[in-house]
Amino acid sequence: MFEHIHAAPADPILGLNDAYRNEPNPNKINLGVGVYKDEQGVTPILQAVKQAEERLLNQEETKSYLSIEGSPAYREAVQKLLFGEDHQIISKKLAQTAHTPGGTGALRVAAEFIKKHLPEATIWVSNPTWANHQSVFQSVGLEVGSYAYYDANTKALDFEALLASLSQIPEGDVVLFHACCHNPTGIDPTPEQWYQLAKLCSKQGFLPLFDCAYQGFGHGIEEDVQGIRTFLDYVPEMLVANSFSKNFGLYNERVGALTIVCETSEQAEATFTQVQRCIRTNYSNPPSHGAAIVAEILNDKQLRSLWEMELKSMRTRIHEMRSLFVNTLRVKGVTQDFSFISQQQGMFSFSGLTPDQVAQLRNNYGIYIVGSGRISVAGITHENMNPLCDAIAAILKD
Ligand code: PMP
Repeated sequence: MFEHIHAAPADPILGLNDAYRNEPNPNKINLGVGVYKDEQGVTPILQAVKQAEERLLNQEETKSYLSIEGSPAYREAVQKLLFGEDHQIISKKLAQTAHTPGGTGALRVAAEFIKKHLPEATIWVSNPTWANHQSVFQSVGLEVGSYAYYDANTKALDFEALLASLSQIPEGDVVLFHACCHNPTGIDPTPEQWYQLAKLCSKQGFLPLFDCAYQGFGHGIEEDVQGIRTFLDYVPEMLVANSFSKNFGLYNERVGALTIVCETSEQAEATFTQVQRCIRTNYSNPPSHGAAIVAEILNDKQLRSLWEMELKSMRTRIHEMRSLFVNTLRVKGVTQDFSFISQQQGMFSFSGLTPDQVAQLRNNYGIYIVGSGRISVAGITHENMNPLCDAIAAILKD
């Protein structure tokens, strides 16, 4: 029965992790997968998470199923974090949120929902985008298109081309935006540009789907959802897929959510029943533990301020590594301008290194970055900075 089945190609990002694990070079460096590392090169469990878990362990009374959409405490906390506590979207009950297994789970549920209820819609993603976007949408049979985003010459957002691209997208299609910390470029629209994009979306009549995987890793918790909130002023409907993998360090607990915003609360309730259906036939209901941690932290003053402090320190460390990386390359005699890296946000930067240079880093130095030249800046530490910059300086000289 299975003789005709061939091996699937390795995942471009997670496959790199497997190769890294088998790398014999004792000085190997992993800047591939988007996982935060602290100064010791460790992906830490946040103190706020540990404390919340202790409480949960003492309070937990059952392991019975959650409902299809997850716990009310979590769902409310997600909406407040995304939209702001006093937003009318919440007071008017215009949004409904389902707890999903990670941001990927949210995107997959969104994909199934779109395929079923907007079957003619094409979904548009930025060029470039996170490697899994296209696959997730294609896996349910959606047509995926791409819109202009990045200018490889200026290493910046090509806003004119972006506007021109989106002006071609018809009513009824879906456009995916990265809410902040664009993966893989690290380049986000400015507040003024978000405003222009929201107006364009309203004029064209396409449905925005925000992927919010790094809230708090760019400028701050509130600042990083400015794009979403600006859109809410201009469009009546929206989908938001968010993840707590990075900002709570809950990678392996699989915590995310899909939120749907509608024009009326009645419409939101009705539409949400269809989201619930997608979930029921997929994984039935979500895993409890990670979301219980997030809800415990967000709904408790002391834990929340501890989390905010820890998130700020992750954000600050990445910003520091960006500046130091640029300076260290300069000190090592690299004449190519890498200053754009210190302007970018979040875990990633598009380094501009070619596939050949990426291969040299891996083969000659045991340094792993994604083939597109995307660097996970969150994996750089004071300790690996020198060997990393020495290696880059050496391959750029060749
Ligand atoms: N969207 C983007 C843009 C991401 O970078 C990621 C994680 N790398 C995800 C979604 C998925 O998040 P999760 O790990 O929570 O599934």
